[in-house]
Amino acid sequence: MQVVLAGYSLDHEFVEDMRQGRFDPTNPVSPETLSAAYARISRYPEPVTELRAQARRDVTASRKSNSVIVFGMGHHSVAEHVQINFDILGVSRLALEALEEARLCSYTEKSQRYITLEGDYVVPEEFGAEDRKTLERIAELQVGLYKEALPRLHDHHRSLHPEMEGSKRDRSTVEGWAKEDARYALCLATETQLGFSANARNLEHVIRKLRHHPLVEVRELSAKLYDEAVKVVPSLIILSDPAKFKETFGKEVSDDFLKHGASDLREAAGKVLGPLPSTGFSGERGDVRLVDHSPDPDDEICASLLFSASDRPYDECLAAARGMREDGGRFERFVLGSMERLTAFDPPPRAFETAFFTFEMELSASAFAQLKRHRISTQITQPYDPSLQCTFPDSVLETGLRDAFQEVFTRSAEAYESVGGPAAEYLLTNAHRRRVLLTCNLREVYHLARIRMDAHAQWDIRRLSADVVKLVKQVAPVSARLATGKDTYRALYSEVFD
Ligand SMILES: Cc1cc2nc3c(=O)[nH]c(=O)nc-3n(C[C@H](O)[C@H](O)[C@H](O)COP(=O)(O)OP(=O)(O)OC[C@H]3O[C@@H](n4cnc5c(N)ncnc54)[C@H](O)[C@@H]3O)c2cc1C
Repeated sequence: MQVVLAGYSLDHEFVEDMRQGRFDPTNPVSPETLSAAYARISRYPEPVTELRAQARRDVTASRKSNSVIVFGMGHHSVAEHVQINFDILGVSRLALEALEEARLCSYTEKSQRYITLEGDYVVPEEFGAEDRKTLERIAELQVGLYKEALPRLHDHHRSLHPEMEGSKRDRSTVEGWAKEDARYALCLATETQLGFSANARNLEHVIRKLRHHPLVEVRELSAKLYDEAVKVVPSLIILSDPAKFKETFGKEVSDDFLKHGASDLREAAGKVLGPLPSTGFSGERGDVRLVDHSPDPDDEICASLLFSASDRPYDECLAAARGMREDGGRFERFVLGSMERLTAFDPPPRAFETAFFTFEMELSASAFAQLKRHRISTQITQPYDPSLQCTFPDSVLETGLRDAFQEVFTRSAEAYESVGGPAAEYLLTNAHRRRVLLTCNLREVYHLARIRMDAHAQWDIRRLSADVVKLVKQVAPVSARLATGKDTYRALYSEVFD
């Protein structure tokens, strides 16, 4: 794996100085001066431009004030003013799941839709000689199937969409559908690359969290991110190095919660639940159940809309919302009216965040890879579980490839059992499933619907988000009425308003 420092934010005047050939080799150029200058805004009267100039003039002093203000005083948010970019190469899809759990960071990953995969995979450090042979054997089977299935799936999609033969763009869309279906045969050790950006505060959190992850590869990623980050923002990455923290502040920073929190919880949960076998509720496709929601989502959103546009207390707004229910279509007109000027590019009003929904779902690794990118939602995951059904693309079933895929899924699951431990998940495929608890507010449901129910979205996540939206509409029929994909928004809007 390779982690390369790709860029970072820098005071504009530093850049200008360098362009003009004015460079003081005794005073390093550093992004930390931005945090130091902004931290001083709260207690110095000088204009912020002058505070930036002072910070630039003495980077050593800026570093010192950063570490005192951020870590000594706990004003951590000033570290957010520095953004850092990394290229990450040769990382597995499984390791990325751990990285991309971090909510406030940004990621762009190699697409398995647009790029034909060559079958490169990461060999986990945990694997001894026997396990390596198992991985090699299974990966050969998986990649063999990917390569065999790809042209057949491509022909199939072409035969279903002869109208798309005419333009280069449409032809490449059809090819992309075949690639994203064939990749259900590939394992989670499959290598990928991405651009990763985070501000210094989030980066520190990511490094701290990942350094205690059960997978060696993830711990290696944490160490490499640290090694790169500490070159440019040493004063903002201190918590992630307990020895340096102690040296700087004379205090211990304990990583015990990050190290042991999850395993303690697993042990305690095991005592409560006992060794029950896993029981799936899955049918033929990614199943979703609404397991909890705000008691009266429509009423609460209506009340929050009234609250946001008035000077009345919430109880009064809620009573008024419920009162409108008695009055013909007034309730509907008011709630829908709040979205009358909404286009497919606007989020609904913030009041829509006051209703929440929790779903339990069983979904493929492929669908999860997409769902996990919805950072505003809360996602609680269980490990992949081969006893849950695998997800088959329709095209695989329609081309008579089901048995070939089933064979690879079964062999992969057997290899997973024989290897054991957390690293065994590397052997499972994009079709293997896990259970996830997803909690989101109605505004996020709208966002999910807009981009994931849209025709451009991949079918697995499209079905999943359509199921989510259907369930939400059952309990919030008025406020969720306009939730749909971007491509069908105009038609739904006309149905509601015209
Ligand atoms: C057709 C399609 C193709 C795709 N192809 C790829 C691909 O090839 N590679 C790839 O890596 N991903 C791909 N994605 C995933 C995509 O880039 C998004 O990560 C994913 O759709 C989640 O969307 P989001 O970030 O808008 O959602 P969320 O994370 O749920 O965020 C919701 C909204 O909150 C705001 N927001 C959240 N966090 C931030 C932040 N840090 N900064 C600014 N605003 C923020 C934004 O307004 C955002 O729309 C694809 C998605 C689609 C629909």
